[in-house]
Formats: sequence, C-alpha cells, structure tokens
Amino acid sequence: MPGIELFGAEERKEVNDVLETGILFRYNHDNLRNGHWKALTFEKELAAFNGVKYAHSCTSGSTAVAIAMAACGVGAGDEVIVPPFTYIATVEGALLAGALPIFAEIDETLCLSPEGIRKAITPKTKAVVLVHMCGSMAKIEEIMQICQEHNLVLIEDTAQALGASYKGKAAGTFGKMGCFSFDFFKIITCGEGGAVITNDEKLYNFSHQFSDHGHDHIGDNRGAEGHPIIGFNYRIGEMNAAVGVAQLRKIDYILSQQRKHKALLKQTLSKFPEITFRHLPDENGDAATFMDFFLPSEELTRQAVAALQAEGVPSLTGVQYWYDNNFHYIKNWEHIRNLQSVAKLPIEILGAPQDYKNLQLPVTEGLMKRLISFVVKVAWTDEQLQMLTTKIEAALQKVFTKATA
Ligand SMILES: *Cc1c(COP(=O)(O)O)cnc(C)c1O
Repeated sequence: MPGIELFGAEERKEVNDVLETGILFRYNHDNLRNGHWKALTFEKELAAFNGVKYAHSCTSGSTAVAIAMAACGVGAGDEVIVPPFTYIATVEGALLAGALPIFAEIDETLCLSPEGIRKAITPKTKAVVLVHMCGSMAKIEEIMQICQEHNLVLIEDTAQALGASYKGKAAGTFGKMGCFSFDFFKIITCGEGGAVITNDEKLYNFSHQFSDHGHDHIGDNRGAEGHPIIGFNYRIGEMNAAVGVAQLRKIDYILSQQRKHKALLKQTLSKFPEITFRHLPDENGDAATFMDFFLPSEELTRQAVAALQAEGVPSLTGVQYWYDNNFHYIKNWEHIRNLQSVAKLPIEILGAPQDYKNLQLPVTEGLMKRLISFVVKVAWTDEQLQMLTTKIEAALQKVFTKATA
C-alpha cells in the first residue's frame, strides 16, 4: 500500500489550500477559490504522466470503469469479456451498465490471455475490459491485434497499473480508455478517487458529461449549461483531488523504491528452483507493486502460505493467496454466479451469456491455485528488508525440504 505509506506534509498542504477557501466543489466559483483547482491540476498532471491528451477524475475506480463503458458506448445487452481474476468492480461495472460479462481465461501474465479472449468472442461481443493486474501488463500487442480484427472496444482497467508500461507506453493508453483507482489501497491514493484517460476528445467529453448529469461544462453559470447526454453524479471533490495532487508528485519515487525492493525479493525467491515467476511482457514496465510467483502445486502453495505466516512474514508485508480471496477471484463470487441483486438487473431479463454457476476455466484455476503475491512496500528500511528476506527464505526452505524428504 505505497501511497498511504507516504502521507505527509505535502498532502496536508494541498488539502489546506482547499480548507482555506472552503470551495470543495471542482467547478465554477472562480473568484472565491484563490486560484486552487485541485481536480483540474490532478487531471493535467495525470494526463502528462501517462503521455496522454485527456484525463478526467471521478469518485472511484469503479465509477471510472462505469464512465469508460458509457463513453465507449458499451451498454445494455452488449457482451463484455472480463477476467475472472480482478477486483470485483470490473464485473460489477459491466453488470450495472446492463452489459453481459463473459469470463475468459487468464495466463501466466495474470491478465486475460490472447487465446482466452479469442475463445470467448461471439457475434454479440462489444468490448474487452482488460485488467492489468498487480502492477503489470497483459500481452497487449496480441490483444490489441485481436480487438482490431474483431472490431472490439478495448477498455483497460488500469486501477492497479499506474506507472506500468509496455515498451515505454503507459498502461491505459493502448485501448480507447484507461481507468484508474486511487482508493486507500492503490499505488497512490485520494482516500477515494478514480480517473479515466484517453486520447480521444469525444470520449473525454462524454466522460466529464456523464460524470456530472450531462453538464457540458461550458460557461460559468451551471444552471444555464447544456446537457447533451444523460449522466449521473460521479464527481470527485476538491479535498480528495488535493490528496491526489500531492500523491501523484511522489510517483517516480514510489516506482523506483518498489522496483528496488522487488528486485531484492526476487533474488531471494530465485534461490528456489521450484519457484517460477509471473510472466512480464516488458520487465522494464513493471510498476512492481507486487512480487508474484508460482509454486509447483496447490498443496505446496498452501504449505508455503502457512509457513510464511508461521515465520511472521505478514508482520512485514501482505502475503496474498488470491485463490481464496473473496473479492479478487471468481471462485468465491457466489453472489455473482447466482446474480443475487436487490433489484432486477438487465442481465436477468436479457439472459446470461454463460452458465456462471458451472463456469469452466481450467487454465485460470491451475494458475490461481499455485500463485502467491507479496505486497512490495515503499518505506521499508534496509533492516526490515533484511529481516523479511531472511524470514521468507526460512519459511520456503522448510516447505521445500519437507517436500523432497
Ligand atoms: C481497486 C480496483 C477497482 C475499483 O476501484 P475503487 O476505487 O476501489 O472503486 C477496479 N478495478 C480493479 C482492477 C481494482 O483493483
């Protein structure tokens, strides 16, 4: 959780700017705000960081996904290919837009695989929501190729991938739109917040309009603005955006620390020939928020998780066994598989495109059972890192010695 590790004077200063004027709203009130436009500043700097023309910030990564789908024209009855390993918001975004999620296989990149996407395409497929999981990217070249061939909208859920890139080009700039989250657990945080990025002016305009009841944001009289489209309220507040401004200015430091720390963790894990690593299509473009690795079997993986816990590794960093996680992997999404919603969803009228109760995703299952991720922190001291690598090595040593005994 790097962003929150670095909350300090810079964040307080930006928030204070807003507190001093009391203008908590991102639009208008030009002569009262003392020159402070936090959401606008955040957007400009986020766009520049990603080398893209437009960014629009919003209340969360979840609403960023909703905005991207709406702006790209993905809605009721459209089939949308999504991964079974993501944060659940990707799937909720599709369902609440009235779209029909199709779960496809991932590969050893931990993202949707090109083959998985190909197999999931039907004549009704409109879009692929590609999630770049755990700080690194999918096989983006092949996936873009498939989307072009089949005329599919590619939306990148980059909630976990700020700072990730492929051959120098930022995650979120390959498809039509990228969707960031700045919730409390992401690489930088606004407390709560999100953003979409795009190079397409039309999509950018749909995005800020859709996020604000269709307001066209022309002129300085809100009540007199036009409303070209139906929208809703996904507006970020100035306080949250202010935190984002300070956090984004720390991103280069965060990335360099994470990369340095991850390299040390990888060195430790590399001592064990039984361990294999997540495939990174471009290692230089890894944001390095997680150290992801596979063990040879589910049994050994579960033993390793237990041994890491017994050794006290969780006191120094997060140890994720995503296979059992209730929010990141489909195995425990019973409410999605049973479509348990309070009010009726469009999918219940239109019909699900897959039998969610009996989904077969053997490749994904095979990978997820054997995957462990360590959270890579920014603020570790040399002593803490030393202690951590020693504990990791001791835990894994026990597991593998027992396995060969
Ligand atoms: C965190 C996350 C989201 C949702 O972001 P929130 O800001 O928590 O709404 C969406 N997709 C992925 C892949 C995420 O990790």
